[in-house]
Amino acid sequence: MYKFKNSDSMRKLLLGVLFFLILAFPVSAQNTKIRVLVFGAHPDDCDISSGGLAALYVAGGHAVKFVSLTNGDKGHQEMGGGELAQRRYKETQEVARRLGVEYEVLDNHDGELLPTLENRLQVIKRIREWKADVVIAPRPNDYHPDHRYTGVLVQDASFLVIVPNILSSVPALENNPVFLYTRDNFQRPNPFRPDISVDISAVFQKKLDALDAHVSQVYEWLPWIDHDTSVPQSPADRKKWLGNRWLTRSQPTPEIKQNLEKWYGKERAAKVTQAEAFEICEYGKRPTEADIRRLFPMLPAKP
Ligand SMILES: [Zn+2]
Repeated sequence: MYKFKNSDSMRKLLLGVLFFLILAFPVSAQNTKIRVLVFGAHPDDCDISSGGLAALYVAGGHAVKFVSLTNGDKGHQEMGGGELAQRRYKETQEVARRLGVEYEVLDNHDGELLPTLENRLQVIKRIREWKADVVIAPRPNDYHPDHRYTGVLVQDASFLVIVPNILSSVPALENNPVFLYTRDNFQRPNPFRPDISVDISAVFQKKLDALDAHVSQVYEWLPWIDHDTSVPQSPADRKKWLGNRWLTRSQPTPEIKQNLEKWYGKERAAKVTQAEAFEICEYGKRPTEADIRRLFPMLPAKP
């Protein structure tokens, strides 16, 4: 039997075991890490649709990336062009810092996004490089052409991400991710259907922190187009004002309430004050209920 000559040998062996564990652990951790990619048309859309969900994933140690397909260089009443695009980019990076996500902004002009082959390949590339398990985007029915075409571009990528001969410079995914649509209020040709509703009450302040970083949008442009002159001056007061606005906007509708009961059970669902909801796209992976509970670890085990 081998005997340790001294405590030094023992220490070396322990160090060796420790290094092995350090090397081996991230591999197993990576297998359970869920990778989420959210697409929006403008630098604030991802935060609005999925900011709470992102905060919950990050808190659970999962990886979230937001991608804005345009640079937001048009939507402002006093500034525009490169100066506005730069300001918007800085706001997204502040969101990245506050939420713990990655935030990429593509250099397409605001208000001019089209479902071109070039843009489709850009979307396919992002989904593959992120090795996404879940991809989230707006529905292709929307008042804003940029939102609509973001929906079309992501839908068009949903199958092609697994086809190796498409964009062969970036390895194809082995499996299609689950594709989800974000909540909206449009009724034609069909209303939004909440399939997966997530209780974001506990992280509502985090979502608010993210929205608060989009100063040029939430305190300037959006109130201006709504003819709303009630935005307070001081950062503390205006954040409170923003909170009151979003408190009602993210309250669950009766349909979302019903869907929350499915995932959380009646008792917990009754306590949800803030929610984000998603519709499963027919393209991409069609998840079972068990798949959804695995991919959305913030949902409780079957109530
Ligand atoms: Zn938008």
